[in-house]
Amino acid sequence: MQPDENVFRSIVDASPFPVYLCTGDQMIIAVANQATLKAWGRDSSVIGKPFSEALPELETQPFRKLLEEVYTTGETYYSRNDRADLLIDGRLQTYYFKFTYQAMRNSEQDITGVLCFATDVTELERARQEVEQSQAMLYNMVKQAPVGICIIKSADLTVELVNDTFLELVGKTRPEVDLQHIWDAVPEAAEVYSPIMAETVSSGKPFHAVEHEIPLVRNGVDETVYIDFVYEPVRDYDGSINAVLVLAIDVSDKVMARRSIEDAEEWARLAIEAAEIGTFELDIATNGMRASSRFYHIFGFEQPVTRKVLQDAIHEDDRSSRIAALREAFDTGKLFYEARVTWNDNSVHWIKVEGRVTSDNAGNPVKILGTVLDITQFRHLQQQKDDFISVASHELKTPLTSMKSSMQVLSRILKADTPSSTALSFMDKANTSLAKMQHLVESLLNVSRMTADQMHLHKTHFKAADLVNECCEHLRAAGNYDLILTGDTGLEFYGDKDRLDQVLVNFVNNAVKYAVHSRKIVIHLSADAGTVKLSVRDFGNGIPAEKLPHLFERYYRVDSNGAQYSGLGLGLYISADIIKRHGGKIGVISKPGEGSTFWFTLPR
Ligand code: ADP
Repeated sequence: MQPDENVFRSIVDASPFPVYLCTGDQMIIAVANQATLKAWGRDSSVIGKPFSEALPELETQPFRKLLEEVYTTGETYYSRNDRADLLIDGRLQTYYFKFTYQAMRNSEQDITGVLCFATDVTELERARQEVEQSQAMLYNMVKQAPVGICIIKSADLTVELVNDTFLELVGKTRPEVDLQHIWDAVPEAAEVYSPIMAETVSSGKPFHAVEHEIPLVRNGVDETVYIDFVYEPVRDYDGSINAVLVLAIDVSDKVMARRSIEDAEEWARLAIEAAEIGTFELDIATNGMRASSRFYHIFGFEQPVTRKVLQDAIHEDDRSSRIAALREAFDTGKLFYEARVTWNDNSVHWIKVEGRVTSDNAGNPVKILGTVLDITQFRHLQQQKDDFISVASHELKTPLTSMKSSMQVLSRILKADTPSSTALSFMDKANTSLAKMQHLVESLLNVSRMTADQMHLHKTHFKAADLVNECCEHLRAAGNYDLILTGDTGLEFYGDKDRLDQVLVNFVNNAVKYAVHSRKIVIHLSADAGTVKLSVRDFGNGIPAEKLPHLFERYYRVDSNGAQYSGLGLGLYISADIIKRHGGKIGVISKPGEGSTFWFTLPR
């Protein structure tokens, strides 16, 4: 059974989508369903009226033209989301419709009207526009962000979006980066960072870099920059990763500033450490103290101790000078004193304390910052120097006095014109004294030349036995000593003969001087693969073991009163220097009661 026209009418009328029909070239609205009237904001009175009369606000919009075109050409018009501004509730309001205009034909195929099917897509269109706007806003934000932003497609690692800050950071132009493969754009970072980016893409885990040091070629110049950055995977609606978002900030200035502070601190720390300085900070109000471990160490403690314990460690005789120094520090702002401290093992050490008092705004002292230094060694050296001066002047005085008296006697003899043999003996005495003084002055000069590094070697090849024989001739002649040469007497030395003679003379003289009761002195020559060796052995009293390590030090004398034997404590010091300059070694073996063997080696 064919449904009658009313059925169709009511179907059309009930449709939630606008449907209407205009007929004739006047575009008379023949049919307009409820949805149409609602969309137009009109009532059914428009039915039967021409389109232009029913909707005058659309006259300036393309619809009537479109209707007429379809009416004349018969070609269906498919809209996109077309905008229609309709007068609804007295206001012109914007809507969007998707619709078709298609020609209605009669049985003769003549066009009789235009049929419209429409959908109101206003909400959809609004939503789309909003998305577009927010995308544009986001794009602007990205563009203007003070953070470097770069979006990289995960599929082919091409740069999808990059802002100016990022370009500035990597020092590249937009054409060098935009739409390029990221590692073509920034090849200098590829080696380290391409595996990391690949990992971000495959694992989906973001990567955070803090203060990474990155070598970059910025505008053609090699630079090292420090960058905080993130690789953040960007997921598609289905959860798959389609891009990596890079956010980066150049933190070079911050890092450099911090590094220079750290460097300065490190320098200060190194300086303090190298100088073996102990540091302390004393809070005057609370009497609380903070100090470095070296500070306590200098006072003789392995662990921090109270201030009272430190004060008690100071030598009784020096406590008052410490108190006086503190009192003065509150007046002048500067603390300074030297004192002795006694360690638990009863050893006595000299310390030097220096500090600065800091005050609050009202001028009240708040704390003392200071340093402490162990100056035992320094004091010891000073003492040695003082001792040396006294020994040296004493040593010079003896021959000088004896020479003076010899000269006085000599002049008296010459005036009286008494026999010349007596005069000659006084002449000899004066000459001996002169030679002694010359030797002493020579030693002193040697030391000053050594410290000024002006000792030069003139090396030759010579027979070691010749050296020994020449130097010992006078002793042998005197007949008081048995000088015995043993070992490889054919040995050759290569070195400065005069200087090595000086060393040998010193060894032999010491053997004579310090082993008085023994006649025998053995000089032994030997060699091994790389070195030749000469040793001088005496059979005197020997040297206590604890003194041995110091023998070759400047001004060192075992019998430091200098009372028993003459000498400046320079001979072995000079000898050691000569041997060192030859690239050889010097040493001593000694046992109290069994004598000593002084030796040196030279490279062959
Ligand atoms: P000095 O001019 O005082 O002799 P040296 O440097 O030659 O200076 O010797 C340093 C010290 O080593 C001497 O003061 C002496 O006490 C000790 N000494 C050197 N040689 C001998 C030795 N053969 N036997 C014992 N003591 C020695």
